Amino acid sequence: MATFKAPKGTYDLIPPVSVKYLAVREAISAPLRNSGYGYIETPGFEDVGLFARGVGESTDIVSKEMYAFETKGGDQLALRPEGTASVLRAALEASLHKQGNLPVKLWYSGSYYRYERPQKGRYRHFSQVGAEAIGAEDPALDAELIILADQAYRSLGLRNFRILLNSLGDKECRPVYREALQSFLRGLDLDEETVRRAEINPLRVLDDKRPDVQKQLVGAPVLRDYLCDACKAYHEEVRALITAAGVAFEDDEKLVRGLDYYTRTTFEFVHDGLGSQSAVGGGGRYDGLSEMIGGPALPSVGWALGVDRTVLALEAEGIELDIPASTSVFAVALGEEARRVLFGKVTELRKAGVAADFSFGGKGLKGAMKDANRSGARFAVVAGERDLAEGVVQLKDMESGDQTAVPVGELIDTVRGRLA
Ligand code: AMP
Repeated sequence: MATFKAPKGTYDLIPPVSVKYLAVREAISAPLRNSGYGYIETPGFEDVGLFARGVGESTDIVSKEMYAFETKGGDQLALRPEGTASVLRAALEASLHKQGNLPVKLWYSGSYYRYERPQKGRYRHFSQVGAEAIGAEDPALDAELIILADQAYRSLGLRNFRILLNSLGDKECRPVYREALQSFLRGLDLDEETVRRAEINPLRVLDDKRPDVQKQLVGAPVLRDYLCDACKAYHEEVRALITAAGVAFEDDEKLVRGLDYYTRTTFEFVHDGLGSQSAVGGGGRYDGLSEMIGGPALPSVGWALGVDRTVLALEAEGIELDIPASTSVFAVALGEEARRVLFGKVTELRKAGVAADFSFGGKGLKGAMKDANRSGARFAVVAGERDLAEGVVQLKDMESGDQTAVPVGELIDTVRGRLA
């Protein structure tokens, strides 16, 4: 029978590498958990309309990349391509915004799905950790999120990343700019699809990576020149707060990002060691999204950092995370009686909070010691019939190689003492 493979554009996380992904999720979420963000989990799929309305019908994410399907019951669903729309939907559904404690600050971690052309750093199934601060218009909130993401990357040891920052204006000034940009774009020589895009969402044409398009965009009107006073003041305050926190950033007036819901602050974290898929994370303010999906006005801001690309960035910088071995004690039992006794001791150790593993499969001393080595355990506990007859087990320090006989009844305390 044919064997199965992971679907195109996906890959499995397998030990020992998978532990890096856990460590990255932990490192990204730690600053959030430390800053008043509560954990939220939403379904892996949603009503397709949530993304069509929220993320935007004209975006690649919705128009080309969504895994949309009809259920047997006739519901139109889609695997989630991103987290913000779902989190906001869930917050509205649970009326979190009505409990008098705005902003509602939430963080999440999970799998996302986009039918993209796979390449290194771009997958059809990927993993993000994200944060959303819902229901407050406060530049300190935008600054907080940027600072926390910076802190997360730095705590992992990353250094070769840059923060790109821009303001997209609001519902007052953006339409004026949009119009100016549109009339500029109408004068260019663009292919049919780009012309269509220019009519639906002209800002996204600025994001076009093709050199022939970029060449024509020289001299395009710049959003900065169109920002209203309120947006300008807001943006200056965000910049000042980030600067005061010692976080370096670059102003990037071309940064628009591929989702329609952003207003005012937008930012992206790019890593210089990743080639074309250089964005390791991004986010921004989405003051209009709640109303777009049927909720009240709830100005909000958030980000999502990609776990897969963060792991690639660690590799690009040659960073080895200091991840302690998961097993502290490995028990090697020789003979039936020893198996019973040591298996019991392993259970006791685990209950006492010591990470312990056991030589399963009835291996001989040599094979079992190889397993003990591979486990990275600090101690091996070895026992055969002769040891047990004397009421002891052998406790071997895997670093020094020293071995001592320990009375069976004292094993747990001895191990705990030596690990402490
Ligand atoms: P976005 O929602 O497009 O702003 O993406 C936020 C982050 O998620 C990006 O900066 C990437 O790190 C990650 N990401 C988005 N799409 C993919 C993908 N197809 N494969 C891997 N990571 C992705």
